Amino acid sequence: MRIDVFTLFPEWFDWLRRPRHLTQAAMSAGLELRCFNYRDYTPLSQGQVDDAPYGGGPGMVIRVDVVAAALEAVYGEAAEAVREARPVVVLTPRGRTFTDTVARELAGLSELVLLCGRYEGFDERVHEHLASDAISIGPYVLAGGEVAAMAIVDAVGRRLPGALGNAESLTRESFGPELAGGTEHPHYTRPAEFRSWDVPKVLLSGDHGAVERWRVEHAGPPPAEQR
Ligand code: SAH
Repeated sequence: MRIDVFTLFPEWFDWLRRPRHLTQAAMSAGLELRCFNYRDYTPLSQGQVDDAPYGGGPGMVIRVDVVAAALEAVYGEAAEAVREARPVVVLTPRGRTFTDTVARELAGLSELVLLCGRYEGFDERVHEHLASDAISIGPYVLAGGEVAAMAIVDAVGRRLPGALGNAESLTRESFGPELAGGTEHPHYTRPAEFRSWDVPKVLLSGDHGAVERWRVEHAGPPPAEQR
């Protein structure tokens, strides 16, 4: 799978490539992560990418011609055609919420484009004419789309076959169908005794049936029910 990220800060994504980071394992499992800087493709002088909003008001808006130029340079096709060949996702607080279901959906793609905004976000024509989807990672406002893109790369990357050492980690985990959308049971490891904080006795009993019942009882409800 290839994920292309458009951003003003491509070097931030170097963090994902560091040894031991999950995304690095995903890369060995076939994830290709490319990052492109809008500034490298802008048709405007002095690396300009944004402009003041029509109608006035604070903040700057990322220009549609700049995003179009970046897409055209990278894919060698008309900017509005790029989204026909692969999903082009604009990261925005008003997008559909990024959930585990969306992560599973995206992990099934061969190509994905993530557009990171900054300042006040994008000129609306980016949403209308260049993107095919809009995703928010939650109901709060970030300073930019980069952290949102990293969350998506992380959650999608770990789902690629071979990215996790133990494929079983994927089958029964929080939000999956095996747990009916709920969260996984708590985990304990050695030492069995630490201060007076004991491990539940049943987990040390060797009784697999009892352990399984404890795990089912201690799994969490789906997030909507937690609110
Ligand atoms: N003026 C906008 C906020 C812009 S925040 C508003 O009020 O809705 C600047 C950029 O950060 C956005 O263009 C988007 O790419 C990113 N961003 C902010 N919050 C986000 C979220 N919850 N999910 C995904 N991206 C987000």
